[in-house]
Amino acid sequence: MHPASLWKALPNGRVECHLSPRKCRIPEGGLGFCGVRYNRNGELLTLNYGKSVPMTEERIESEAVYHYAPGAPILSLGNIGCMLKCDFCQNWQTSQARLVREQDIARYTPEQVVDYAVRHGIGILSWTYNDPVVWQEFVMDTARLARQAGLRNLYKSAFSIGPEAIDELLEVMDIFSISLKSLDADFYRKFTRSELQPVLEGIKQVYRARQGGRGPHLEVSNLCITGRNDNLEQARRVCDWMLDNLDDEIPLHYVRFHPDYLYTQVARTDVNFLEQARRQALDAGVKFVYLGNTANTVSVDTCCPQCREVVIRRSGEGIALHLDGNRCGHCGHVLPIVNLPQTSKPVAFAGKPGRSLTHVFRGAIGAAHIEQATENPIRYVFLDADGKEIMGGQSSCLRFLVSKPSARVVAMRIDLDADKDVRVLEVFDRAHFPTVLTEQSQSGSCDVPPAPLQPR
Ligand code: SF4
Repeated sequence: MHPASLWKALPNGRVECHLSPRKCRIPEGGLGFCGVRYNRNGELLTLNYGKSVPMTEERIESEAVYHYAPGAPILSLGNIGCMLKCDFCQNWQTSQARLVREQDIARYTPEQVVDYAVRHGIGILSWTYNDPVVWQEFVMDTARLARQAGLRNLYKSAFSIGPEAIDELLEVMDIFSISLKSLDADFYRKFTRSELQPVLEGIKQVYRARQGGRGPHLEVSNLCITGRNDNLEQARRVCDWMLDNLDDEIPLHYVRFHPDYLYTQVARTDVNFLEQARRQALDAGVKFVYLGNTANTVSVDTCCPQCREVVIRRSGEGIALHLDGNRCGHCGHVLPIVNLPQTSKPVAFAGKPGRSLTHVFRGAIGAAHIEQATENPIRYVFLDADGKEIMGGQSSCLRFLVSKPSARVVAMRIDLDADKDVRVLEVFDRAHFPTVLTEQSQSGSCDVPPAPLQPR
C-alpha cells in the first residue's frame, strides 16, 4: 500500500477522493468505486502502486497517436482497476480489479521502468491499457524520473479524471491520446457508469495548455461500438464538438470495436460505416481523420492537406515516411506532425538462430505479443503463403508486440537461441493487453472472443 494523493478527510474517519470526477466518499476500511483506493484509519491509500501488467514494447501507432514520432517504439504499462465500468471493456481482465489474476501482474519501481526503457533504446513511456487514471501516484513518480532521463511520456486514457490530477499530468506528459466514447451523456451513464461532461472539460483543459504552441501533443479517438454508437449522427456529433472546441488539426480516430467482456452478442463494427464516418468528418472540416483497428485500408495513411500526396503510409507495424522534418516530402507544406529522429535500438541478433518457431496468423487476428523469460535478442520475420520472407524486426524486451505489415503475410517465424523459449499471445486489436496463450485461445478464450467476426 502507498499513500494516495488528491483526497481530503471528512468527519467520522471518512475520506473523499477527488482523483476522478466520481469523488468517492469512502468510510474507514472501505474501497473506492475503482477497487484500488482504500481508506485505512482515515487515510487514503492506493493498492496498485507499482503493480503493472508486464511492460511491453509496442509502436506509438498502437495508442492512436499518428502525428508524433511516427513508427517510434514505446514501452507500454497498464495497471489494475478503472474509474469506469464499461460492459464492453476490451481490457476487462485488468480494468475490473476483482477479476485480476495474480499471474498477470508484475511489480516495478519507477527506477526499474526508466532503466528498462533506457537499456532497450525506447524513448517513450506509454501509460495505457485498463486506464492510467487510477494509477496517478506511480504514473507521476515514474514520469518525472523518465523526464530526467530524457524520455517522453504518453497518456492514453478515457480521461474521466479531475482537474487537479490533469494539472499534475500537464507537468510531465508530452502526448495525450484521449478516448471520447460518445457525445451522448446517457451513453456514458448507461454503458460506462460515468459522466460525459468531465471528459469534455478534461480534453479542453489539455487543449488550453497547448496554447502558445508549447503544450502537449493531443489526439482524440472515438470507439464506435456495434449497436451502441455506430451511426453517422453520433459520429458527426464527435467531429462537430472537436471543431467547435478544439481545432481542425487535432487528429480524430474512429476506432473499430471487437465484442468483449459482457457485450459479446454483436459483430465487430462495420468497416463501411467507419469509412463513411471518416468521410463525413473530413467533409465537415477535420483535416486528419483515421480509422483504428482496421487493416487493408488507406484510411490509416496521412495525406498532406496541401498537395494530397501520402506523407505517412501505415500497415501494421510497417511504416513509410515521406517527410522532411515536419514538412511534406512532396510539396514542402508544414504539417502538424512532431517527427523525432528515430532512436537506434541496442539490439543485435548475432549469427544463426539456434531454433525457429512459426506462428500462423489466424483469421482477423493480425497481432501477437511475444514474451520471453530473459532479455535475449529475438528476431521475427513475416512470411507470405509461399514462405517468402517479407520483412521483420527484432527485440530483446521481455515482452513485445508484433503486427502484420500487410495482407500478404500469413505467418511469422521467430528465431531465437537454442536453449531459449517464448510464449505467443494473440491480440485481436493492438491496443489491448492479451492474457491468454495462443494455444489456449484456439479453443475460444477471453482475448479471442467466441463471438463471431460476422453477424449472427
Ligand atoms: S479514483 Fe475515482 S473511482 Fe477511484 S476512489 Fe477516487 S474517485 Fe473513486
